[in-house]
Amino acid sequence: MLGWLARWLRIIGVDARYGDRPDDELAETPCLLVTRDRELFRRRRGPAVLLLTEDHVAWISALIRALGVEPFRRTRCPKCNAELVEIPCAEAERRVGHPVRSPRCWACPNCGSIYWEGSHWRGIKKVVDEALRKPVDCPETY
Ligand SMILES: [Zn+2]
Repeated sequence: MLGWLARWLRIIGVDARYGDRPDDELAETPCLLVTRDRELFRRRRGPAVLLLTEDHVAWISALIRALGVEPFRRTRCPKCNAELVEIPCAEAERRVGHPVRSPRCWACPNCGSIYWEGSHWRGIKKVVDEALRKPVDCPETY
């Protein structure tokens, strides 16, 4: 159920895998596992993050800080996770067949999808900006 989070993380530059995998496989993966499933988290044998709050901005904030990501320095294809290549927006417009009205455009070298800074991208940027401003109040004694 965290597919949207994987897609968002890819857009801000994180190499994020997502798919329908059996819990036994997820419990053993050497990758960092991000889950809301307490039972899977309990069975987990590797690094994991258990998301308990419903606050999605807090999720983004915590993951950006924990992963040491500089959001949007790179960007990945939300569909297939390949690193995107910046292209001239005139080329993007030619390939999608309509104006994109964006200062930056990208193409996926793997699946061929074309992206630009549209309303969806601006919505993600707004949440990420909010997440970066969100204070993380860790007591000094921890
Ligand atoms: Zn792709």
